Amino acid sequence: MLLRELRETYRRELQQFYSREETDEIFYRLLDRYLQLPRFVLGLEPEKVLHREGEQPLFEALARLKEHEPVQYIIGQAHFMNMVLNVNPSVLIPRPETEELVHWIIDSHDFSHGRVLDLGTGSGCIALALARKWPGAMVLGMDLSAEALETAGSNARALGVGVHFQQGDMCQPLQDPEPFDLIVSNPPYIPADHKPGLDAHVQGQEPDNALFAPEGLPLHFYACMVARAAESLKDGGWVYAEVHRDYADAVCGLFREAGLTGIQLKKDIFGNPRMVRGCQQPKQN
Ligand code: GLN
Repeated sequence: MLLRELRETYRRELQQFYSREETDEIFYRLLDRYLQLPRFVLGLEPEKVLHREGEQPLFEALARLKEHEPVQYIIGQAHFMNMVLNVNPSVLIPRPETEELVHWIIDSHDFSHGRVLDLGTGSGCIALALARKWPGAMVLGMDLSAEALETAGSNARALGVGVHFQQGDMCQPLQDPEPFDLIVSNPPYIPADHKPGLDAHVQGQEPDNALFAPEGLPLHFYACMVARAAESLKDGGWVYAEVHRDYADAVCGLFREAGLTGIQLKKDIFGNPRMVRGCQQPKQN
């Protein structure tokens, strides 16, 4: 088959699942992964002949894509903040909006020698990005899932980044009594009743326990976050959270009730309210 014909096959077979741009993007990633061909080869050599062994993995990937498997799980990798991270169905695929959260943090603070806690670390994306920015900081990534922590640990080793990972429930008091300068989280926040409306390559593919808030409790994990902040954040320390756009104001309200100050809501590049931060008020004696 010719290279351009294979791309046509992808476009045709995936058109009911993905936009043309998304399909091409997926195709180029697979071309790079399986045939080590850069995307511009299609411009230079559209008539390039692919032999059966070359085509095979791309047809296998196509079958998996039609079963709604995300391309990142097929190739086992996702990009985040100039890092290539290992991902698998035990972790959420890192999203561009979470990169925006990390940028907001590193543009606003210098915790080079601080203590940083990432609650629900998943692939470790936030913890790793912060530890790369601040190599002298003590960064701890916590997650309930042992499988997720294995993935996060493999990412830290592959990147040579010093992050501590620990299994734990963000809704229980922390074991580490030393307070933190920063507590950050991208918790499961999709309201449970939104489940039926989600894309098939998200719902049923990515881990439910990384995506969904408990039924009827959309703010559950933010309440846990502020409880951890009350116990374990230094005076003047910061809390940052990624939020669902429908609950952004509610999270601000929760932060306010918890006595956090300097509360701000930030929109993502699509104009959706997506991130909230607040500062721990110095305690009055
Ligand atoms: N941003 C993800 C999505 O919309 C959800 C991530 C999360 O629940 N923390 O699919």
